[in-house]
Amino acid sequence: MKRFKLLTLLGIRPDYIRMYKLIRLLDESKDEVEHILVHSGQHYDPELFGNFLKEFNIRKPDHDLGIGLALKERGASNHAYQVALLNERLYDLIQELKPDAVMYLGDTNTVLSAVTVARCGIPVIHLEAGGRSYDWRMPEEKNRLVIDHLSDALYSYLPRYKELLVAEGIDGFRVTVIGNIIVDAINDFMPQVDASSVLRELGVSEKNFILVTLHREENINTKEILENKLSDILKFATEKNLPVVWPVMPRTQSAIENFGLQGITDDPAFVKTAPLGFFDFLRLEKSARLVVSDSGTVQEETLVLGTPCVIARRSTERPETIWIGATILEGQEGPGALYAKMAEAFNMLTNWDRTILNPMGGSPSERAFADLINKIQSGYFKTSRDLEAIQNDPRVRQAYNLPT
Ligand code: UDP
Repeated sequence: MKRFKLLTLLGIRPDYIRMYKLIRLLDESKDEVEHILVHSGQHYDPELFGNFLKEFNIRKPDHDLGIGLALKERGASNHAYQVALLNERLYDLIQELKPDAVMYLGDTNTVLSAVTVARCGIPVIHLEAGGRSYDWRMPEEKNRLVIDHLSDALYSYLPRYKELLVAEGIDGFRVTVIGNIIVDAINDFMPQVDASSVLRELGVSEKNFILVTLHREENINTKEILENKLSDILKFATEKNLPVVWPVMPRTQSAIENFGLQGITDDPAFVKTAPLGFFDFLRLEKSARLVVSDSGTVQEETLVLGTPCVIARRSTERPETIWIGATILEGQEGPGALYAKMAEAFNMLTNWDRTILNPMGGSPSERAFADLINKIQSGYFKTSRDLEAIQNDPRVRQAYNLPT
């Protein structure tokens, strides 16, 4: 039987963390699947393909579309140029490789190239489907809507996300609930996390420091907003006499320099580092007294690890972490807003249910893999868009004047 040619297109570091196990399973299923791993180049930090992928024992991608670096060299990088260049390069690659389906994860600009894939008549698969913040200011919200509605097969983390998709008119049979795949990365690497010596290296001790990450546009594109957040973090840490461990992303560092905020960040309370490896970072999340982060993944990881987290954002597409009492959303901006939420989170109980991201237990990546293989074997991707496949939908029956 001809093997199914599956192209997985990823763009940023957390994509590889989340998908590490599924990539491995697909690579290993050589009889069934010819798995082609492609990096869009949205993150082009050489660290990514150096130490970082080695940590996860993930092979180098087969192709790197190099969009981030190309735009940097041109001196002009924004979402429009990114997506334009990606579409151009991906189009050429899929003409050459002719994949049977293209799989994406998450809500980065990379997923917007699914328009080109779908236009070429190639099925689209989306992991992390159905996340919605309903906050139109978020760049990722537009990306989520586009990819979900273009996808032939969608994998959602929790039943609620499937319900949201179906309410938007997406065929229920396309959506499979698998649990949150970040649980696989956390569980599988816990021995390495526990063996990390990062606390000693940074000179901090168990439950005696605050961990911070800030990289989202909404936080770093405006001087006033970034200044408020950093001042609030410093004020709180100084009052509590706790150091602030902060792996600073390169673009956050540029924002600090452009806005002249070194006066705040040079305070000795900040223990700044370059972005860390996953094991060290997870160890810090596990050992911190409090985490402040605008990352999507970090709020899930802290829930599983049992550390309170303030989501330093206006909105989130993952409200279940708030409902269970593991995180607090900063919500509004302005001086003192983050400080108030840090004070609230500092006193939170940490006895929440840590299993809610994977209520079915077991391995979410294995569930996605089994379903995908089943779909491949049953020929699902050849027929799922046929009118016969959707003829029971009342909207289709009406459109074609079929009896309802
Ligand atoms: N992370 C890491 N090193 C760091 C900071 C974060 O390995 O110095 C990991 C973190 O554990 C999480 C992911 O990177 O799994 C979060 O990435 P990011 O904040 O860039 O993206 P988001 O989750 O918002 O997409």
